[in-house]
Amino acid sequence: MTGGPGKGSRCPLCGGRLEWGTATIPFVLPDTVVLIKEVPAEICQSCHEPYLTGQTVDHITDLLNRLRGLRAEVLIFSYTQLASTVQPIVAAESQ
Ligand SMILES: [Zn+2]
Repeated sequence: MTGGPGKGSRCPLCGGRLEWGTATIPFVLPDTVVLIKEVPAEICQSCHEPYLTGQTVDHITDLLNRLRGLRAEVLIFSYTQLASTVQPIVAAESQ
């Protein structure tokens, strides 16, 4: 076993070929579902499972930590905007 997908890797689930692309990935928190679009990931060409790099996961974890105070049921972000702002594209307020 290796430490995860790298260049030329195969999907651990189905053995399909991984290619770089972007994916929309939901993150389920205790009170909020955060949907992040355009996340750079290696995506299996067979089962479409996305695999994130450690750096990307760190970036998203940092964002999720900053979202703790927001009261919303669903937040939608674009990964590419995260460098400059944490304003969501859509925030569905919980009542
Ligand atoms: Zn696969």
